[in-house]
Parts: sequence; structure tokens; C-alpha cells
Amino acid sequence: MSTKDWLEKDYYAVLGVSKQSTADEIKKAYRKLARELHPDANPGNARSEDRFKEVSEAYDVLSDERKRREYDEARALFSGGAFRRGTDTSGAPFDFSDVFAQNAQQGGLGDLFGAMFGNTARPGTSGPRRGGDIETETTLDFVEAAQGVTVPLRLHAPGVCDTCHGSGARPGTSPRTCATCHGSGMVSHNQGAFSFSEPCRECQGTGSLIDEKCPDCGGTGGVTKTRTLNVRIPAGVSDGQRIRIKGKGQPGQRGGPPGDLYVVVHVGGHRVFGRRGDHLTITVPVTFPEAALGTEIRVPTLDGAVTLKVPPGTPSGRTLRVRGKGVSRVGGGAGDLLVTIDIVIPDKLNDKARQALADFSAALPADPRAHLEREASHGG
Ligand SMILES: [Zn+2]
Ligand SMILES: [Zn+2]
Repeated sequence: MSTKDWLEKDYYAVLGVSKQSTADEIKKAYRKLARELHPDANPGNARSEDRFKEVSEAYDVLSDERKRREYDEARALFSGGAFRRGTDTSGAPFDFSDVFAQNAQQGGLGDLFGAMFGNTARPGTSGPRRGGDIETETTLDFVEAAQGVTVPLRLHAPGVCDTCHGSGARPGTSPRTCATCHGSGMVSHNQGAFSFSEPCRECQGTGSLIDEKCPDCGGTGGVTKTRTLNVRIPAGVSDGQRIRIKGKGQPGQRGGPPGDLYVVVHVGGHRVFGRRGDHLTITVPVTFPEAALGTEIRVPTLDGAVTLKVPPGTPSGRTLRVRGKGVSRVGGGAGDLLVTIDIVIPDKLNDKARQALADFSAALPADPRAHLEREASHGG
């Protein structure tokens, strides 16, 4: 993709969000579109595949705070045709991922614009280039998320062409060094007192030319592939978390490092347990006599049951803590099991129980509501 594309494309429109949208709104819009347009959901539909790529590209920029800011600034600066004059003088298409890769390393908008105009010497245009990042999603059940799991992820993303191994040249041939720039990808011009370099037009800044293109990738060296990757999800991930798996993104070019894979994790619920950060929560029914007299109860955990002491006089709603029986932390250790006591009132009583409760009630020393009316009339 060229920078020209980048400036002409309205990523906000692609995602159907406004320029003022929050990061969250953008993420939601992306998720929805990505689900609808995912190639797995639309096998053989070229239009939705194109749209899927467009949407991924838009999200790649708008989801990254820094890229988004630069995108906004660049579009604001170049609106009104100024940008087109810029490309006409350099005439060189630039790969946008390259612009960002360099920008990320060196920082600053000056770099970005320099690269766009092609008027700053930029050795390394033809050098190694880091591969792009890929984002995917996976849904785990509650226990998997708490204990960690290895999941197979189907990725539909660019990869190295197997036919030419990324060279872009028909098998049996190889790219030759560009004679115009001698392989550097840059050419120098003298204009009055100034000398400046710009990307070589002959080879589009790559430093090499391909005479016979690889039939499978059309000379780009990359193809969209579906691959399955087994990914270890660490114990303790929570719903909505984005996990970075280093080096499992798109392959780098010309010896550059691969990009990263990001996995957004969705975690399902559990019939018995809940999660509060690293803590596991559970609500346990206890009878009134058990709570009043104190007792020991068996409480399930993710790995077997534990015995928990309920002290005499425990009120309903009190939370007791079992240390270290929660969810494993990524860095080691574990959260706690938080046991909430729920005193259950029987809705049916047999004669014996009813009589015992009546005797108990008669034996209670005081009316628990005695103070209410007195205090209400004095205004508290
Ligand atoms: Zn060249
Ligand atoms: Zn190929």
C-alpha cells in the first residue's frame, strides 16, 4: 500500500465510525465488521475478503493511538491537494508499513513526512523490513482461562509465498540488482546548490528487479495464507484481554524480523464460579443454625474442594477468604477464593422444625426492631 492510498483512504468511513470516536467505539465497530466479513464466514466471497482487508488495515491504524494521531495530522495537513503535488515530484510509491516501521524506531512526524515526500536520504528503504502485526480472537471457557491452555488458532493473513520463498521471482530465476540505483534503492539528484536523494523509480526503492515474476504471488513474494498456529494462553487471562505473541505475526521482508500476533481473548462464564481479577468468587448457601452456631463447610475450588471454617454469628453476605485458591497470576502465585455466605431461609418447614424455631424465637432475649420507632421519632 502506498502513502498516497493511506492519505486518500478514509479509515473512519471504512469502519463506519466518526473522527471523534473513542478507542472503545472503534474496537467495537471493528470487531463487528471483522466477524461479519471474516473469510471463514464467507468462503469464496472475494468482495467480503477485500472488505475484510480494508477493515483490518483501517483498524491497524486507528487502534494504535500513535498511528491514529499521525494519520489524523497527516490528513489534516495534506487535505486540499497539497499531498498530490508532493507525490508528483517524487513519484515514488512508499510502503506505509515501512513508513511506520521507521517512524516507530526513530520517532517524530518529521520522519513520516520525509518518507512521504521521498526528499530525505533514506538508506535502508531496500533493507530489512519488519513484518506486520496480526490480530485474531479466541474464546476460552472459564477454567481454561483460569488455568491456561494451548489453543489452535486459524490465521488468515499474509505469509511468505512457498513457490518463490519470498523472492517474488519465478522458481529457477532470481531477482537482479537494479542497475539504476546499484541496489541501494535510492538515487541522488543535484538541483542547484542542493543534492537530494529519492527512492529509485526503476525498482520502486527495492533495489532489485524481477524479470520473471512468480506466478503464485505475482512478484510480491507474499500470499494470503490460512495457517493454524498452536498458541499457549497463560493462566489467568481475563475477558477482553489482548495477548501479544512475539514474532508470530507476518513474516519480515528481506531478512527483517516478523511482526507480532495479538490474540484478543473472550472468556465464557461458569455455573459456580465468578472472577474478580485474580480472585475466584463463589456464593455458598448456609443454613441459619450453621451461621449462628458456626460450622465447617466443604467449598469447591478449581482443583478439588477445601474445608472452610464459618465462625459462629456469621451474617449473610459476609465474604470469607481462602488464600491462594483463586486464579493463577501470569507472573506466578495466585489470587484468593472469595466465599460469600448466603443464608438460606427454608420455604417449607416440617412440624419438628417449626416447633424448634418457635421455641428458639421465644428464647431470644430482645426484639431486634425495638429501637427503630424510638430513633425514627427523634430524627436520628
Ligand atoms: Zn533501483
Ligand atoms: Zn511467489
